[in-house]
Amino acid sequence: MTARILVVDDLLPNIKLLEARLNAEYFDVLTATNGPEALAICGQGLVDIVLLDVMMPGMDGFEVCRRLKADMATAHIPVVMVTALDQPSDRVKGLDAGADDFLTKPVDEIALIARVRSLARLKVVLDELRARATTSAMLGLPDPIAHVLNEMGEGGNILVIDDRDSSSERILAALSGTHKVSLERAPQEALFRGAEGDWDLFIVSLGLKNYDGLRLCSQVRSLERTRHLPLLMISDIEDRSRVLRGLDLGVNDYLVRPIDRNELIARVRTQMRRKRYADALRHSLQASIEMAVVDPLTGLNNRRYLESHLASLLQHAAGRGQPVSFMILDIDHFKSVNDTWGHAAGDEVLKGFAGRCKRVVRQIDLLCRFGGEEFVVVMPDTPIATAAIIAERLRAAIQGEPFNIGDGQQAIPITVSVGLAETGGSADPDMLFRRADRALYRSKSSGRNRVTSAAA
Ligand code: GH3
Ligand code: MG
Ligand code: MG
Repeated sequence: MTARILVVDDLLPNIKLLEARLNAEYFDVLTATNGPEALAICGQGLVDIVLLDVMMPGMDGFEVCRRLKADMATAHIPVVMVTALDQPSDRVKGLDAGADDFLTKPVDEIALIARVRSLARLKVVLDELRARATTSAMLGLPDPIAHVLNEMGEGGNILVIDDRDSSSERILAALSGTHKVSLERAPQEALFRGAEGDWDLFIVSLGLKNYDGLRLCSQVRSLERTRHLPLLMISDIEDRSRVLRGLDLGVNDYLVRPIDRNELIARVRTQMRRKRYADALRHSLQASIEMAVVDPLTGLNNRRYLESHLASLLQHAAGRGQPVSFMILDIDHFKSVNDTWGHAAGDEVLKGFAGRCKRVVRQIDLLCRFGGEEFVVVMPDTPIATAAIIAERLRAAIQGEPFNIGDGQQAIPITVSVGLAETGGSADPDMLFRRADRALYRSKSSGRNRVTSAAA
């Protein structure tokens, strides 16, 4: 995987060192020697990850990070703080500023590459989701990113998997104030709980007595229900190589014992925010997919949905030798409904019309709003004689009583004309549609409010 990394440091030798190591791993490297320059480069939208020196004259790293995270255009770029001071308080300050991770100088080569790789992976996912979220904004859905930027990362549902009481007590004590934290001593049990519960984070000890914590992490990653679940490892100082293995397996972050309370709180908060960010984007993606195939006025599937499903539905039926019937409904003189009662009343009629149709067609039938005041019903495994009975039932349901609009103030009588066709030997959707449409035309020209079946 490649990514574009911005290295920010006021000292050229430091930049050269990081640049050389990143280049050796085929990352693209950009450089900046002060905060404002770094902000300007990030603003151009070409940076995947920022490695940010803390101590710089003028604007320091904390301030650069805060500004990046406060700007909608750059908030999603992962920031790694590079600090000479291996001080937990400094890390906490960085995390408070919104940093995603730390490296301490002199920078450990393996930790550098593992960290950058893991963040690059995360960035790929978020970019994909963001691009789709832009689509949802164009469709008029709420912007998920603006919402999540204010996310405090509190109130998470966290499972701690640890069998050392002294260690787990410390973790629970630190997090219980702001999150709902449960403890699980048995790793196998954690997998079950993971699949059943609605978790925001697993904190896994790598020092479990009778179980490999890394195995648990890898199992969590491979199960469908927990694939996206954030994982935080708790390691001992001598676990270095296992931490790297864990990052390769997709573990999101780690802490080294002895656990610093504030660092734990801050890292958990970062994971929580990251998860909610991804969740929000996933939801907005779901909403935009629905929006693309559902008609907002009636809640029925739309023409796009029909067209993307019809061909395969017909082929499937042809393969089994089953007939499919196809019905087009067109409301009679609908233009004059709008002209007489107004467009809003017309919309109400369309909603009511869809509702009556829904009640008459069967579960297996596919009812769509094809466009305007035209609707389509696809009836799998249905010969045209049966379809004609359903069509007649529909026609009668529409004519049966007028549509009450505006709190029953207006009662608008409506009728509908229907054209029907059945698949013959052919599974061609266009042919089927044309035959039903010609039948509809005959219903219209012979007086409307009737059902016509196409000849076989
Ligand atoms: P016919 O009996 O021949 O089908 O006559 P018609 O008036 O129903 O047919 P025509 O195709 O001339 O007019 C359809 C009308 O449907 C015109 C259009 O303004 C109206 N229409 C289409 N979509 C909507 C909608 O979403 N809401 C409302 N209120 N009217 C719509
Ligand atoms: Mg029409
Ligand atoms: Mg019409």
